[in-house]
Amino acid sequence: MKILIVEDEPKTGDYLRQGLIEAGFVVDLVRDGLDGLHLALSGEHDLIVLDVMLPSLDGWGVLQTVRRAGHEMPVLFLTARDQVEDRVRGLELGADDYLVKPFAFSELLARVRTLLRRGKSKEPEMLRAADLELDLLRRRATRGGARIDLTAKEFALLELLLRRQGEVLPRSLIASQVWDMNFDSDTNVIEVAVRRLRAKVDEPFEPKLIRTVRGMGYVLEAPEAM
Ligand code: CA
Repeated sequence: MKILIVEDEPKTGDYLRQGLIEAGFVVDLVRDGLDGLHLALSGEHDLIVLDVMLPSLDGWGVLQTVRRAGHEMPVLFLTARDQVEDRVRGLELGADDYLVKPFAFSELLARVRTLLRRGKSKEPEMLRAADLELDLLRRRATRGGARIDLTAKEFALLELLLRRQGEVLPRSLIASQVWDMNFDSDTNVIEVAVRRLRAKVDEPFEPKLIRTVRGMGYVLEAPEAM
């Protein structure tokens, strides 16, 4: 895990660098906003510890440019003043957390670890079961590499089943999550939708992934051996 520290105050910067190295991180330390920006844009860092008041370009400017360039690594702001405007501005610009100086190193380390954990558990872009793949970014489904055309509702239904693989999902839950409304229990809207989905993603293929659990609902599950 590689961390970039942008901090012009020599004592604070050295202290942070030393502490983070001892905690097992690889650390780059720069003391100037523009240098910080250039390093941040390399995209090599898993997290940035960013001071607000910096020479040549302040922390706001660094963060704004980094986010506009599409980098999403967590950013922890260091601010000298506990002012609401500062916090709001930082969060609006895409900071993930902030610390008010002076702070204890143990506090910074705890925040850093939390942010790194959160960063890793980001939303998956791809959901899978056996050879079925749902690409959430491109809104595309494939099975065995072959493209499957789905309606928006079918996509939402498949996404729900894939996200909760192995769980039996009652019709009422499917109705509320996919159709955003409650259906009477005797309605066949869900059944029809599931049948259509199966015809596309299951019938032409093996193994079958979507099962009906009588009286309970539906479950999507890949067989163990896959
Ligand atoms: Ca400073």
